[in-house]
Amino acid sequence: MSSFVSEFMAQAEAKNAAEPEFLQAVREVVESLGVVIERHPEYRSARILERIVEPERVIQFRVPWLDDQGDVNVNRGFRVEFNSAIGPYKGGLRFHPSVNLGILKFLGFEQVFKNSLTTLPMGGGKGGCDFDPKGKSDTEVMHFCQSFMSELFRHIGPNTDIPAGDIGVGGREIGFMFGQYKRLRNEFAGILTGKALNWGGSLIRPEATGYGTVYFAAEMLAANGDSLKGKTCIVSGSGNVAQYTIEKVNELGGTCVTVSDSSGFIYDPSGIDAKKLAWVMDLKNVRRGRIKEYADQFTDATYTPIDASQGYNPVWDVKANCAFPSATQNEINGKDAANLIKNGVNLVAEGANMPSTPEAIDVYLEHKILYGPGKAANAGGVAVSGLEMSQNSMRIGWSREEVDDKLKGIMKAIHKAAYDAAEKYGTPGNYVNGANIAGFIKVADSMMDQGVV
Ligand code: NDP
Repeated sequence: MSSFVSEFMAQAEAKNAAEPEFLQAVREVVESLGVVIERHPEYRSARILERIVEPERVIQFRVPWLDDQGDVNVNRGFRVEFNSAIGPYKGGLRFHPSVNLGILKFLGFEQVFKNSLTTLPMGGGKGGCDFDPKGKSDTEVMHFCQSFMSELFRHIGPNTDIPAGDIGVGGREIGFMFGQYKRLRNEFAGILTGKALNWGGSLIRPEATGYGTVYFAAEMLAANGDSLKGKTCIVSGSGNVAQYTIEKVNELGGTCVTVSDSSGFIYDPSGIDAKKLAWVMDLKNVRRGRIKEYADQFTDATYTPIDASQGYNPVWDVKANCAFPSATQNEINGKDAANLIKNGVNLVAEGANMPSTPEAIDVYLEHKILYGPGKAANAGGVAVSGLEMSQNSMRIGWSREEVDDKLKGIMKAIHKAAYDAAEKYGTPGNYVNGANIAGFIKVADSMMDQGVV
């Protein structure tokens, strides 16, 4: 590691000691950028890196709400407005009990580079709350969302900050929050993406992150004269990203044999075909049940509970060619990565944000497998959010084919940008360096143009 990187990280660690996920995300980017900073001393003297790791604004607020028993609950809400050099803040909202400032700062920081890679004019942000939607009635979720928006509405707007969904925030939650914003402001505006089609949503937005991740994987394979046809794939999670990853892998001729949630995973050697996927979507999006039920419904499949004390996740210990982590951060550790390699996996495309620990990434790079990091591979979601914003501004709606074609084009462009930057800066084939460098340069140059702000 260069002395610049180690000095920089020592300062970042001193300032953000209680935020391990944020420091992990910063370290990964800064390690890629050592060579860029050497070639561009102007970035160093303008303190671009020091500024880029500091959010422009952090908002924290109380979210009180009444449950069905009439009891008062209190949660903690956040919005991290990280960087607006290339456009208004843009990034999802996460509702999960694990949410804290450090996790949202890691997600917001990643979002800055991801949004830059999409080719669209969007800055980076992220927000959320330590609220757990699991087991709550629709009425409770509505009361919570209304209370959350009763503070957030002051800070967002179509030219300022446009949140979207993430873990625990899907169409239902976006609807409740949009309704409350409209009531408070008396204006119908594109202040959230992931809206339903009847009131300003975009076709393909629900599918976009999963589809985009698979398009990115297909691009990595195509660059090596290969394709997804006939490939066995393992997928973690069973939410939005996992569902549409499976749909697109099926469409491109691969077979997905796993799906999971935080309690355990399903192995279905005969593959999760369209009929089984429709059943999973109903289980997760309508009945809001647990993935364990899959093995009762489809008797070829087996269910294995996850035991965190084992130190590894058994979903990554299955024979396969490709892996699509689509659940959460740090879900693949060094041992899991070694298991992937042992089982024949030679492609990892990250639908989730930062699902691989630094040790896991070292294993991928050492074995020279095709590795698409989240900020490049899962950028399709925010890219179609950007397209939703364009349609809202123009008050038009593009067809399914038009949006899907644009998404495919954007994923191709992101792949090329990351591939070319990796080569130009001396680490060909390393998409981590490529994505970090390509994402950074556009934001850094914009910050240089805009002076010390
Ligand atoms: P969902 O809430 O729809 O689904 C999340 C899935 O991951 C569920 O199956 C959930 O299981 C599982 N999961 C969540 N937390 C954990 C955990 N701590 N341990 C194990 N499993 C867990 O979220 P999304 O599909 O939208 O998001 C998944 C990932 O993709 C996240 O990393 C998100 O940041 C990323 N992402 C999402 C985008 C989007 O457009 N939605 C865009 C880009 C990235 P359970 O039900 O048991 O909690």
